Amino acid sequence: MGGPESTTAEFVARRARFLRAAGIHRTHPVLLRQVHGAAVVPCPRPDETIEADGILLRDSDGEDVAPSIRTADCVPVLVADRRGRAAAVVHAGWRGTAAGITIVALQHLAEAGVEPGNTVVALGPSIGQCCYEVGRDVVEAVASASGGEASAMTVTRGGGIYLDLHEALGLQLTGTGIPAASIHRAPWCTSCRGDLFYSYRREGAAAGRQMASIAFKGASP
Ligand SMILES: [Zn+2]
Repeated sequence: MGGPESTTAEFVARRARFLRAAGIHRTHPVLLRQVHGAAVVPCPRPDETIEADGILLRDSDGEDVAPSIRTADCVPVLVADRRGRAAAVVHAGWRGTAAGITIVALQHLAEAGVEPGNTVVALGPSIGQCCYEVGRDVVEAVASASGGEASAMTVTRGGGIYLDLHEALGLQLTGTGIPAASIHRAPWCTSCRGDLFYSYRREGAAAGRQMASIAFKGASP
């Protein structure tokens, strides 16, 4: 789906096709310059390029914008208020998870009047524990930011440590008061499923990107 700088007709058409398939085709995608940080910003205009890794969408932003995150192994996290007042989209790789970006997003939602118990969350396709070999420093950073034991989110295989980022994010989210039953996890590994997804681990820096978007449903016909 390209980045904010990918403005050729091909990329614009791809994003429009994706939003149409999602039933929010009257929206404009809003993209960030993603930096693996913990900043969550109010929804920029579609022609702005802001450096951050999460966007807060409020009902006052209207129905014509679709805050969007691009990933190729990191976890796209979508959070929505069940009562439809606000939502957030977050880019959470290990660095963002260790920096607590989903917790930051929940704080912004709380300031918008959204209780964690009234949210529904989607953890999108990302690299699975099957393929996500990481160093001990990564495990320690993610575990300490998640309030869980490293052993609850890792397996050791052939001398390597494999991290389950969805599990770490799930612990962070339930720690804020979101019911576990409200957290939905995509079952695919982006590295294993080359038939469906781009993957940084599999393809390197030139890998394409998935896009995850959220918008108010009133934007659909
Ligand atoms: Zn895999």
